[in-house]
Amino acid sequence: MNHSGTLYVVATPIGNLQDITLRAVDVLKAVDVIAAEDTRHTSGLLSHFAIQKKLLAVHEHNERKAGEQLLLRLQAGESVALVSDAGTPGVSDPGAVVVAMAQAAGIKVVPVPGPSAVIAALSAAGIATPGFRFHGFLPAGGSQRRAALQALAESVVTLVFYEAPHRVLDSVQDMAATLGGERVLTIARELTKTFETIHRLPLAEARAWLEEDANRQRGEFVLLVEPATPKETGPVDAEAERVLRLLLAELPLKQAVKLATDITCAKKNALYELALSLKQAE
Ligand code: SAM
Repeated sequence: MNHSGTLYVVATPIGNLQDITLRAVDVLKAVDVIAAEDTRHTSGLLSHFAIQKKLLAVHEHNERKAGEQLLLRLQAGESVALVSDAGTPGVSDPGAVVVAMAQAAGIKVVPVPGPSAVIAALSAAGIATPGFRFHGFLPAGGSQRRAALQALAESVVTLVFYEAPHRVLDSVQDMAATLGGERVLTIARELTKTFETIHRLPLAEARAWLEEDANRQRGEFVLLVEPATPKETGPVDAEAERVLRLLLAELPLKQAVKLATDITCAKKNALYELALSLKQAE
């Protein structure tokens, strides 16, 4: 591996140390220095894998300044591995600032993929939708949290949140109030650890379920909410349908829909759907 002057962004386990990848171990062994969110925490991980390496602290409060030091090392030809306390750096963790600085300086940046709680939770939630929106942590304050949730209420993809144990009760309650109590919540707690729990239930029942047993409120959480049901486009009235049919007989579909929308003021989506079904029925 020719690694001189390279910044490796290395994912580390989110609980179970066996989840580290073979490549991550190789890279951590090979680099000149490891930049860690918390050097004491990372020392524990390294000693588990019998790796001895110089550690530098790069955390939320010194990321830019520490980044400048790292750049000097990288420009001098050293290789650096960037790790956070758990999971993938830059995912609700420091990392993005250093990576952006390295990119801007023309340094080679290499991802070493591995664990991340968002992906682990999605893989075990069984929500069959093509997309998801990772929101990370919601705001701590109630009104800001509800506003953030309100802005996501109509999203037709799975919503994924990180949450701390002391806020999980309030968060699920606000989710029920803003997103709708009937929507299914997946609580993914302590993934890959001894007390791993994956539980699905309607949002309206989530707070009571968590309160039933204090242990259910402990540890680390990923909360996933199934997508909102797409809004009905509404029926097209008989006059709008008559106009659409006339235009469709003379014009290409898109043009007919646009003109029919202008003439009748019916909803464009509804007219478009109807136009498609009329064409298919021909
Ligand atoms: N960088 C990490 C990643 O890639 O997932 C996330 C770091 S963020 C500071 C920590 C949050 O991630 C926790 O509060 C929790 O919401 C989530 N998390 C991390 N490990 C987890 C686990 N084992 N089980 C459930 N959630 C976890």
